[in-house]
Amino acid sequence: MERLEEVMHKRKRTLIMPDSDDEEEEDLLEAEATVVLTDREVFDCPICLNQLFTPVFQCENGHIVCSSCLSKLKRKCPFCNMRIDIRCRGLEKFLQSINILCKFAHNGCTKTMPYSKKIEHEQVCQHVTCFCPYPSCSFERSPSLLYRHFRVHHELSTTRFTYNTTFSVSVEINQKQIFLQERHGSVVFILHHEVQQNGRAFYVDCVGLSTLKDMFAYHLTAESMDMDTSVTLKSVPEVHKQLPKHTFLKKHLTVPSAFAGDNGILSLSVCIIKDDPAALEVQEGERGLYDPVAHKVLKVVLNNPDALDCSICHKQLWTPVFQNYNSSYLSSRTHTSNDISSKSVNVDLINTHTV
Ligand SMILES: [Zn+2]
Ligand SMILES: [Zn+2]
Ligand SMILES: [Zn+2]
Ligand SMILES: [Zn+2]
Ligand SMILES: [Zn+2]
Repeated sequence: MERLEEVMHKRKRTLIMPDSDDEEEEDLLEAEATVVLTDREVFDCPICLNQLFTPVFQCENGHIVCSSCLSKLKRKCPFCNMRIDIRCRGLEKFLQSINILCKFAHNGCTKTMPYSKKIEHEQVCQHVTCFCPYPSCSFERSPSLLYRHFRVHHELSTTRFTYNTTFSVSVEINQKQIFLQERHGSVVFILHHEVQQNGRAFYVDCVGLSTLKDMFAYHLTAESMDMDTSVTLKSVPEVHKQLPKHTFLKKHLTVPSAFAGDNGILSLSVCIIKDDPAALEVQEGERGLYDPVAHKVLKVVLNNPDALDCSICHKQLWTPVFQNYNSSYLSSRTHTSNDISSKSVNVDLINTHTV
């Protein structure tokens, strides 16, 4: 039960429920308790680092693995070489009894959900972490916070534009990225540029929620100096939470080098098309405030406040914790085998020493 012990170590404080004369209210308050865990990764498999789900397994020394790692490891514990044979039902029971905050709570997400629904929510969460595309900037937050950051911190290197309106961008020969931000300061687009053998290559992508995917299209046009020839690309920008490094998209516009002036500066007409320019909220994601505390700790709400109590004496569990083989009975060391048998719980409980 090493992991559950870890949980208890990391429980900084349990909110004390206030006294109340109103019995009904008291019952409600007693129905849940908040636990603050100082390690956000405490519910992750130590091998693959994915979120743990029932069934969870452990060796006799209490080392925990998830079920997919179990088969890969051929049931041999990578920490102590013991056979991994035991269902870690104590931890499973705990996981089933908690409501957990979204992984992106520090980005302003306020949703709480049963542990089993966590991944499902995080795939559609509006507060998912996006990374600033500006070179060597390490800012990472929700889309709405990132766009605000970009507007404030990278304003001088950004071209502002209006949707569905063609604007012109001058690209120098050594410029690799040109940042474009919509006039209201929302979605950040990146015009990528690379000098290739057969000309100058361009495409556009953007940073934000994956729901932006079908929202935009773009046109790029370049004209020769005498304006009698032009090349155009009509495409859909890829959407990234983090710009992929060192990849230049194959679907791009190639502009003949002769289209540029003697100074190497090439003028490009850009239009970013959006069907519904009014739907600002949809493109930015929900707003929210950065919460530095939530970035360091994990808040867990126990639906069943007894989840961290001894199954026998109902006192708060403390390290070390013992579990009955393959059952969810948990107990602290203080019990003698007499206590346990008098409650007709298998004496394996104290033999399964899992410190
Ligand atoms: Zn695993
Ligand atoms: Zn082990
Ligand atoms: Zn969320
Ligand atoms: Zn930045
Ligand atoms: Zn007890």
